[in-house]
Amino acid sequence: MTTRRQLLVVLGTGAVLAPLVPRIWNATEDSALAERTFPVDKSEAQWRAELTPEQFQVLREHGTERAFTSPLDGEARDGVFVCAGCGQELFSSETKYDSGTGWPSFFRPEAGAVGTTVDRRWFMVRTEVHCARCGGHLGHVFPDGPAPTGERYCMNGAALRFVPRG
Ligand code: FE
Repeated sequence: MTTRRQLLVVLGTGAVLAPLVPRIWNATEDSALAERTFPVDKSEAQWRAELTPEQFQVLREHGTERAFTSPLDGEARDGVFVCAGCGQELFSSETKYDSGTGWPSFFRPEAGAVGTTVDRRWFMVRTEVHCARCGGHLGHVFPDGPAPTGERYCMNGAALRFVPRG
C-alpha cells in the first residue's frame, strides 16, 4: 500500500509541475508568435526557397548571427534598412548608431514597422522584435540606448537589407 501511495504522490507532483515545463523552455511564447497571422504569410517551404540559409535561420527560426559579422554593422550611408524577408521599411539611417556590440543598432524603428513579444528563452527575459508585416524575427530591444528614446534596437544584419537613398 505504501508504494502505491508513493506512486500516486509522484504522479500528482508530475501533473502539477508539467505545465511549468513549456514556460521554462518558452514553447508558449514561440507558438504564440508562430500562430499569429501577418499580412505577408508564407509557408516554411516558401521562405526556405526565398531566403538564404542565414536569413532563414534568423528571420524564421529566431537565430542570432555572430557579433561583428554583418557588413551592415558598419554601414554609415544615408538610406533605409528594410526587412530581408518582405521588404518593409524598418529603420532609417538617421536612427542608426554604433553601439559597439557588433550588431546594427538603432534608437527608433519606423512608425508601425515592428512588433514586440516577450522572449523567455535561455533563462532570460528579453523583448523580441519582429517585422510587423511578415512576422520575421529581427532581434531584441533593450532600455540602454541613446537619446532621444533611450532604446537600443539590437538587430541582426541578416534580417535586414540596406537601400541607399537617391
Ligand atoms: Fe518583413
